[in-house]
Amino acid sequence: MNPTTNYQQLIQNLDYLKLKQMSLHLNEVLDFSVNHQLSLVDTLVKLTNYEIDVREQNMIQSMVKVAAFPHLKEIKDFDFSFQPSINQKQILDFLTLRFIEANENIVFLGPSGVGKTHLATSIGIEAAKKRTSTYFIKCHDLIQNLKKARLENRLESRLKHYTKYKLLIIDEIGYLPIDAEDAKLFFQLIDMRYEKRSTILTTNVNFKAWDEIFQEPKLANAILDRILHHATVVTIVGDSYRLKNHLEKENE
Ligand code: ADP
Ligand code: MG
Repeated sequence: MNPTTNYQQLIQNLDYLKLKQMSLHLNEVLDFSVNHQLSLVDTLVKLTNYEIDVREQNMIQSMVKVAAFPHLKEIKDFDFSFQPSINQKQILDFLTLRFIEANENIVFLGPSGVGKTHLATSIGIEAAKKRTSTYFIKCHDLIQNLKKARLENRLESRLKHYTKYKLLIIDEIGYLPIDAEDAKLFFQLIDMRYEKRSTILTTNVNFKAWDEIFQEPKLANAILDRILHHATVVTIVGDSYRLKNHLEKENE
């Protein structure tokens, strides 16, 4: 369509520039501007904000998607009263993402079902929403991926890939034993991220018993050393939330 008026030309321009939201909200903003006698600058700010808001939302959605969280459980979904061993203030402090600025780690340590993955994911979602590149992976999958990369002669680039994330969440360390060869791969990653990037780890195994996970005490020590040097350890003692309903029934 050939524009016959400047108004039509403006809509065409917005569409050509792919400013879809500005095009969609044009009438509304123009009406508002006339009714409230807005200045040209204020009108343009209002119009451009529509475009920016939607792009920000899309950006956040894609950051959260890329992070590959197992679910989208946030801190508001966490019942702190069920788990009194957790210092709520400390978790809220993690959500400020201060630890990421300082390249510090967090380790959630505790038995199955106490909320380790939930809390790690909540912090990860907050980071992703703030445009911090974040990735969630189970320890076993991480090691399988590194092994595969080594077989295909692309270990270095895979390690670099996992080092790139400002926040990496490694879930479930110690659920499956890791042989010495695999432990070396894990060590390499931890070493590359050491003091440069933040990592959140979850485990159900006390640090003293990490020798048994990694089977090689020296490597286990080297891994722990780097993880714990700048880390906050959150030890959770309590009942499994998964068994909550069963426990409630027993107490009735
Ligand atoms: P863990 O990783 O420690 O084994 P999860 O974080 O996977 O435990 O928690 C198990 C399930 O219980 C998840 O669905 C999680 O969202 C839920 N859950 C655990 N603790 C709480 C809690 N305090 N409040 C609400 N839901 C919880
Ligand atoms: Mg878990």
